[in-house]
Amino acid sequence: MDIKRIEENYQRMSDNEIIRIATTDARGLRPEVFGIIENEIKKRNLDPNILQGAIAQNKKYSLSEVEQYSKLLRDLPCPICGNTHEKLNGTISHTVKSFIIFTTYGTEPTIACPDCLDKKNDDAILSSALLGWWGFPWGFFKTPIYIYRNYKAKKDNRLDTSNNTLLSYTLGNIGEIETYKDNKEKLKDIIKRRNN
Ligand SMILES: [Zn+2]
Repeated sequence: MDIKRIEENYQRMSDNEIIRIATTDARGLRPEVFGIIENEIKKRNLDPNILQGAIAQNKKYSLSEVEQYSKLLRDLPCPICGNTHEKLNGTISHTVKSFIIFTTYGTEPTIACPDCLDKKNDDAILSSALLGWWGFPWGFFKTPIYIYRNYKAKKDNRLDTSNNTLLSYTLGNIGEIETYKDNKEKLKDIIKRRNN
């Protein structure tokens, strides 16, 4: 597509679409498109940090830089229980549930305080133990594996540094974190989405 057409497309977009693309979907955008986004931001009087969010998605980061970003999330109150005394971290809960004719598998990230992370894994263990094993044959074989993965994930819930789940969550949402790094309410939205 030639650049004129791309520009016209952006001009037709709503403010929310521009914000969504710039903060969450800007990976791999052609360099000329950043100029178009910048123009639209100015013209519409949008938050100029949005452009920084788009640029952030196209950078390479060292581990310590990702850790730095992840601290912005760690310092937020727990999105599940509201706890402000402990630093947040991440976990993945692994669930297998068998129904009459099919078995479902779920892996879901959560960012929360250590107690709430443990509870997420415990709930996944319990529901997999109750509902997973009797789906024949795969539920039967996979349930112990899924339960084991929750136990394994739980080991990282109380690390006093950012664990791998939080780091990969941070990198996956880097555009929004960069854009809203000074806006606590927006940062809270980024981690809350996954917990509902
Ligand atoms: Zn909590």
